[in-house]
Amino acid sequence: MKLPQVAIIGRPNVGKSTLFNRIGRTRKAVTAQEPGITRDSHFIQTEWAGVGFWLVDTGGFVPQAKDLIEAAIREQVLFAVGGSEALIFLVDVETGITDIDLQIAELLHRSGKPVFVGVNKVDNPQREWDTGVFQKLGMGDPFPVSALAGLGVGELLDAVVDSFIHKPEAVERVEEGLKLAVVGRPNVGKSSLVNAVLGEERLIVMAKPGTTRDAIDTQIRYHGKVITLIDTAGLRRRSQIKEGVEFFSTLRTEQALTRCDVAVVLIDASEGLTQQDVRVLQQGVQRGAGLLLVVNKWDLVEKDHTTFSQWEKDIKARIPTLAYIPILSTSAETRLRVFQVIEKAQVIARERQKRISTNQLNDFLAEVIKRQPPPAVKGKEIRIPFVTQSKSAPPLFVFFSNYPDLIPTHYMKFLERRLREIFGFEGVPIRINFKKK
Ligand code: GDP
Ligand code: GDP
Repeated sequence: MKLPQVAIIGRPNVGKSTLFNRIGRTRKAVTAQEPGITRDSHFIQTEWAGVGFWLVDTGGFVPQAKDLIEAAIREQVLFAVGGSEALIFLVDVETGITDIDLQIAELLHRSGKPVFVGVNKVDNPQREWDTGVFQKLGMGDPFPVSALAGLGVGELLDAVVDSFIHKPEAVERVEEGLKLAVVGRPNVGKSSLVNAVLGEERLIVMAKPGTTRDAIDTQIRYHGKVITLIDTAGLRRRSQIKEGVEFFSTLRTEQALTRCDVAVVLIDASEGLTQQDVRVLQQGVQRGAGLLLVVNKWDLVEKDHTTFSQWEKDIKARIPTLAYIPILSTSAETRLRVFQVIEKAQVIARERQKRISTNQLNDFLAEVIKRQPPPAVKGKEIRIPFVTQSKSAPPLFVFFSNYPDLIPTHYMKFLERRLREIFGFEGVPIRINFKKK
């Protein structure tokens, strides 16, 4: 999770998605092994020359109205610069330098981050002659590439990766503690909640050494423990474009879920659990984040002493597969229970780190199988003689079997439920794999 991030920036149609897919493809075989990883995403974990990093494609949003393009590009660049260690600025050899390219160059200059200019659509050697003009962007030697044909991409990535393996030690030594993200749809109260937390005197807000004023994370100390609140700047920064609000909010959510240990998924009590809220929770599960569901604006709910447990029951009934996610109600407005959010998140983070010993797990397995053995499938007797926890944060359990491919889904779910009953893992997505003995 501590991998550096590289963003691809550029105006529409220069080939950003094509390049993103080209680079991402190298890792396909590896990602396929991890259950529950989505591939149609703006963020992908990849590697070059043995160095891992997150690649971001920020190009998905193009407003319809022409006069909005400039503002949209501006937001896109600010978004990308925020979390990135290095940037790939993609331009198009067919069009040469355009006005928008110049504006992007200007924004990138100011960011102070390493920028690598990729001149795309250089599909043949003749076109290489035309890449020289991009020197005028003032960002060093441009790299001719063809995202479509895969030409020159290696040289570009060599330079990108080279720029971050020599990063100053100070950055690495910063203690991050629990990395906490507050996510949710626009207007549910994310910034209000973060502000309610930050406004409290018990907390000391720390400046992060080695970061600039546009630092996107805020560090606090809560009862002596460091906590990093992810992308607090992103919460404050609103899209200036109406159509952009949803898009950037989605992108930010994805980014935060990717970087955090625990995500607080905020919903609005006056609206209840919406389909989009459920999607955010599922995204969190896919990314292996610890999860806490918080019903905010609780002050707006007419209630008695049974209201909350009724809410809890209703929510769990609607998303039975996510019933392991704990639920809290808060009011950012009156600061009701805002610190319980932090405390619960700390508990979830510990659960997510937890490792169960192989001995304990196998005692558990023997007991479970004695009571309810796996069903015979296609006339084959399935045995599961051994289990081990091969990873934590998020936990991965590997069960060994004579027929790993025949184990029915309902039996996998049953094993997961039993694991949770015995070992807890509140708020933590569990991964289960079956391997050939
Ligand atoms: P984005 O808007 O920047 O994400 O651009 P896309 O990746 O969607 O590409 C825009 C168009 O350029 C598509 O029609 C691509 O097929 C085309 N394209 C992308 N890379 C190359 C390339 O290396 N060579 C050529 N000739 N066309 C390309
Ligand atoms: P964000 O878009 O998720 O960051 O939402 P904001 O924090 O900007 O809040 C959106 C609106 O909801 C603002 O008008 C807030 O004052 C209001 N709001 C936030 N939290 C609460 C709450 O707990 N109770 C009530 N009544 N209003 C709230």
